Amino acid sequence: MPAQRLTPFGGEFRDPEREAAFQAERLPETLRHTRLLFLLSACLNAAFFISDWSLYGESNFQTTFPARLVVVLIALVCFWSISRAKTFRQAQRSMIAWEWINGAAVAILVSSHTELALFAVLMLPSIYYLAVPTAFRWTIASGIGSSVMVLFGYMLPEPAGSSPIGLILLMTILNLALFLVVSRSNRLQRMGWSATQAERRAKNELADSRAMFETLFKTVPIPLLVVRVDGTIVETNDAAVRYVGATQRSLGIRTTQEFYADPRDRDVFLARIRKDGQISNFETRIRLADGSIRTVLLAGMALEIAGEPHIISSVVDITERKASEEKIWRAASHDPLTGLPNRAYFQSRLEQDLAQAERNGSSLTLLLVDLDDLRNTNETMGHLAGDALIKEAADRLNPLIESCDIVARLGGGEFVLILAEPPSSDAAQAMVDRILTDMRRPFAHQGDLLSCQVSIGIASYPDHDRQPSDLMKDAGLALRTAKALGRGRAEIYSPDMRAQLEERTSITRDIQGALRDGQIVPFYQPKVDLKTGRTTGFEALARWHHPVHGLLTPASFLAAFEDSELSVIFGEHLLRHVAADIRRWLDAGVDCGRIAVNLSTAQFNWVGLAKRFLDILHDAGVPSERLEVEITETVFLGRNAPHVVTALRQFHESGVRIALDDFGTGYASLLHLKQFPIDDIKIDQGFVRDLENDADSTAIVLAVIQLGRGLGMNVVAEGVETAGQASFLREKGCTQAQGYLYAPPMAAAAVPDYLQQQEVRCA
Ligand code: C2E
Ligand code: CA
Ligand code: CA
Repeated sequence: MPAQRLTPFGGEFRDPEREAAFQAERLPETLRHTRLLFLLSACLNAAFFISDWSLYGESNFQTTFPARLVVVLIALVCFWSISRAKTFRQAQRSMIAWEWINGAAVAILVSSHTELALFAVLMLPSIYYLAVPTAFRWTIASGIGSSVMVLFGYMLPEPAGSSPIGLILLMTILNLALFLVVSRSNRLQRMGWSATQAERRAKNELADSRAMFETLFKTVPIPLLVVRVDGTIVETNDAAVRYVGATQRSLGIRTTQEFYADPRDRDVFLARIRKDGQISNFETRIRLADGSIRTVLLAGMALEIAGEPHIISSVVDITERKASEEKIWRAASHDPLTGLPNRAYFQSRLEQDLAQAERNGSSLTLLLVDLDDLRNTNETMGHLAGDALIKEAADRLNPLIESCDIVARLGGGEFVLILAEPPSSDAAQAMVDRILTDMRRPFAHQGDLLSCQVSIGIASYPDHDRQPSDLMKDAGLALRTAKALGRGRAEIYSPDMRAQLEERTSITRDIQGALRDGQIVPFYQPKVDLKTGRTTGFEALARWHHPVHGLLTPASFLAAFEDSELSVIFGEHLLRHVAADIRRWLDAGVDCGRIAVNLSTAQFNWVGLAKRFLDILHDAGVPSERLEVEITETVFLGRNAPHVVTALRQFHESGVRIALDDFGTGYASLLHLKQFPIDDIKIDQGFVRDLENDADSTAIVLAVIQLGRGLGMNVVAEGVETAGQASFLREKGCTQAQGYLYAPPMAAAAVPDYLQQQEVRCA
C-alpha cells in the first residue's frame, strides 16, 4: 500500500471509506478490547474504592468518594453501551465519553493528593494514547485533554510546588512520545492490513480464476485432455469423455497412444510441442472407443504441473466437415459420369506437374486419348449407349493410374493421361501399346458389341513445347493426325503435322463440298464372263465432276478413302447413288447384273458399316443380291479385324458377294481366304499388264487362278486391255475379266445403251 495514501501524522487512511473498512474489520477485536478495558477500570477503581474508604471522615473523602464512584459507574455504563455497539462510530462514542468523564473524575481524584496521584497523572494519558483505539484525532484530543485535566487536578488545590514547570515539560514530552508511538503504530497497522488485504485479494482472485478455469475446462464443449509426456491421461473434461465414448474412469486409465490411428503422428505432434511449446491445427486420424476412425484437428500446449511437464490438448472433430469439403471438391473437380478428374482439375495438375518438371529438369508426356466411335454410337444407338461406352473406356483407363500421374476425362470421349517423368521412352510406348490393346477389345452392351477403340495423340515436355496450353495443342494435333491416318493408332507430335493436317483438312473440306453439291458420282465398268463374253455386272468407281478441273479420278481425292469420317460419308453417298441407279435400271427393265462397290479400310472403323449399307439398299428397294463389295487385303491387317469379320459375315449372310481386290499386292496370308467368306478374287492389273512379257507375272497369275479354283472362288482379272491377255486368261481358267478391252468406266446414263449393244453383239 503506498504510504502517501495515509495521513502524514495520524497514519490513518486518507480515504474515509477505506478507514471505515479497516475499523469495521477490527471492530470485534476493538469491542472485546474496550470491554476488557472498561471492566478492568471498573474493577481496579472498585478496589481503590476500598482504599479510599480509609479517608472516610476526612475532608478529602467528600471529593474522592463521588469521583471514584463516577469512575466506576462510567466504566460500567460504557461497558454496557459498548456491548451494544454495532459500528465503530457507536463504540468510539462510548470510548470518548468514558475518556472525558473518566479523565475529569481522575482529575478530581488526583486533586486530593493521594500517594498514587502522580502515577495516575502520568498513567491516564498513556492509557488513552495506547489502550483506547479511537480515531487518531480523538486519541490526541483525549490524550491532551486528559493530560491538562489531571495536571490541573494535581496542581490546583495547593499553590504550585517546586516543580510545576518540570511536570508540564514531562507531560508535554510524554504526549509527544505517545503521539509518535500512536502515529507509527497506526501506520504499521494499516500498512500490514493493506498488505494482508492485497494478499487476500490476490488469493481470492487466484481461487476465482482457478474455479473459473475448472468450470471452463469441465463444461467447454470441446474435448480437452491433460496428459503427461508419456501419454498418460491425467485429466479430461466431460466433452472428451462424451466424444471418446468412454467413462471418465476408463478414459483415465488409457494413454494417448491408443488413440492415434497412425502412431507416427503422435511422435510428430510431440516433436512439434517440444520444439515450439505449442501446436495448433494438427490434422490426424484417431480411433474412438467404439473403434470408429475420425479425422480431427489437435491443438496442444506444453505446461508445467507440480514441476512436471504436461500437455493440454484440445480435439476438434472435422470428419463431417472434411467429408462435405471432399464432396464439394469432388463435385467441382471430378466428372460425375466416370468419376475421373475433370478438365479443370487436370489443367491445374498439368500446370503443377510442368512446374515441377521444370524445377527437376525432368520430362513429361501427355497422352490425349479419344474414343473413335463415340459419335457413331451416340447416333446409331443413343446417348445411353454412348455414356456406357465412355464409362467402359474410363474403367479400362483407370487402372493405368498406377503407372501415370493422372487419368482425367476432358469431355465427350476424350481422356488425358500425364506421364510425369516417364522412366524411358520405351515405358511411354509400352503404355501407349497397352492402351491401344486394352481398348481394341469390343465392349458388349445390351447384346450389342460397341467399339471401344481409341486414337492417341502424344506430346512431350520439353521436346515439343513448354507451356501447358501449347502442349495440349500439340497432343490435340497428334490426335487429329492419328484419326486422319485411320484411327485406332497413336501419333507423336511433330512440327510439320500442322501443315500436313491443314492440307488434309482443306482437301477434305473440298470433298465434303463436292459431296454436298452432288459433284461426286459413280461410273460403271463392266465385268465380263470370259467364256460367254456377257456382262455379269459392273464395278462402281467414284468420279468427281470438278467445276474447274473437269472429271477427276480417285487419284485426286484419295483423302476421301483414308479419312475415317469422310470415308464413311463418302461410301454412303456413293452407295446411295449406286442403289438409286440399280433401282432405276431395274424399273426400266435393264438387267445390270451385280454391282460392286469398293470399301476402304477406313470405312471398317465404323462398326455399323454392314448394317448401314444393307439399310440403304433396303430403303432404295434394291435386293442385297444385287450388291458386291470389294475389299483389299489391308483390311485384315488393320486394327479393326474384329469389325471386319462381323461386317463381312453380315454382308455374306444377306447375300452380298465379297471380292478380294488387288490380290497379290498386299500382305494377306492365305489363311484369310479360308477365314473370311470371300467369293471372288480379283487379280491385280499390274500382273495382268505384264502377262505377255514377264514370266514372274504369268506365274503369279497362274497361281492365283489355281488357288481360286481350288477354293471354289471366282477369279476376276482386272485391267485386261488386249485380246491376247483375255484369251490367255480364258484358257487358264480365269472366269471373269474387266478392263478397257471391254469398256472403260462409264456414266450411269451410258449403262443401258452399253448393255443393249452387248446383247446385240452376243446374239
Ligand atoms: P480398283 O478398285 O482397282 O479399280 C480399278 C481401277 O482400274 C479403276 O481406276 C479403273 O478405272 C482402272 N481400270 C479399269 N480397267 C483398266 C484398264 O484396262 N487399264 C488400266 N490401266 N486401268 C483400268 P480408278 O477408277 O481410277 O480407281 C482407282 C482406285 O480408286 C480403285 O482401284 C479403287 O481402289 C479406288 N476407288 C474408286 N472408286 C472408289 C470408291 O467408290 N470407294 C473406294 N473405297 N475406293 C474407290
Ligand atoms: Ca475395285
Ligand atoms: Ca483393283
